Amino acid sequence: MTTVGFIGLGIMGLPMARNLLAAGFDVTGFNRSPARTDLLVAAGGTPADDPHQAVAGAEVVITMLPDGPDVEDVLLGPAGVLQELSPGAIVIDMSTVHPSVARRVAEEGARRGVGVLDAPVSGGEQGAVNGSLSIMVGGAQRTFEAALPVLKAMGGTVTLVGGPGAGQTVKAANQLIVAVTLGAVAEALTMLEAVGVDTHAAVEVLSGGLAGSKVLDTKAAMMRDGRFTPGFRTALHHKDMGIAMVVAREAGVVTPLGSIAAQEISSLVAQGKGDLDHSSLKFLVDRLSGRA
Ligand code: NAD
Repeated sequence: MTTVGFIGLGIMGLPMARNLLAAGFDVTGFNRSPARTDLLVAAGGTPADDPHQAVAGAEVVITMLPDGPDVEDVLLGPAGVLQELSPGAIVIDMSTVHPSVARRVAEEGARRGVGVLDAPVSGGEQGAVNGSLSIMVGGAQRTFEAALPVLKAMGGTVTLVGGPGAGQTVKAANQLIVAVTLGAVAEALTMLEAVGVDTHAAVEVLSGGLAGSKVLDTKAAMMRDGRFTPGFRTALHHKDMGIAMVVAREAGVVTPLGSIAAQEISSLVAQGKGDLDHSSLKFLVDRLSGRA
């Protein structure tokens, strides 16, 4: 499979599409704001004026869009592009959406002989640039195996975790863990600063022990410097915590730590900080502590 239609060339989608080009795939890309498509063209991609043009003749279609309604608008219904694909084509939705959206896309694909995978990612912008994303995949084994060369061009860890929607359920768990960990790192840093401890030395030693984590490694410096350029927009994590809370509630599971983290992220969005990186949880802790 060499022809890929890529829809959604944002912070994540553009570097992922660039990695596909670097791996030798033909990529035709579409983004709602055309400046992003121009950047794909500069890397050797082909521009499309709309989603229909992006998927014409594609063997694999990838969507990397903000939220479930965007994915449904682009793929499903009379105006959606899924119905335009040839039987045997594969749709890979790599956006983070509620598992029910993934299942609806999979059902529509099954009706038309199109393989569908939900394949949300973790690893942030850096992981997208390096091609080292963790990709959690839901769908049929056969479709997964056929799509593996495409997924491997974008990811380091690529794992089939179950049937349709399972990838999104694992992603909800991922976002729960990241939010709670970010909150804990933010609280620890504010405490260290308030006491006057050297936070460079503190983070170095913390990262070598049980408190170490990728969140600490990648976000502590941003928090310390108050440098909240995304990265991962707080508004998107707000959306993801909504998904995680619903998934947990539907499963009859109580998530007190997740609920507090969700409220904190909600507060950032309410304060107009939705376009900052989610490491801006540090700003919230500073503000709650009377330090910002
Ligand atoms: P983003 O807002 O930077 O990019 C989304 C892009 O989609 C934008 O360029 C936008 O113009 C485009 N778009 C929106 N609607 C469109 C449509 N109908 N047709 C074509 N293009 C459209 O977001 P992102 O950070 O790249 O995130 C994309 C998805 O990946 C989200 O679901 C997010 O939750 C998830 N995600 C993001 C990160 C991260 O670190 N940024 C990490 C893992 C997962």
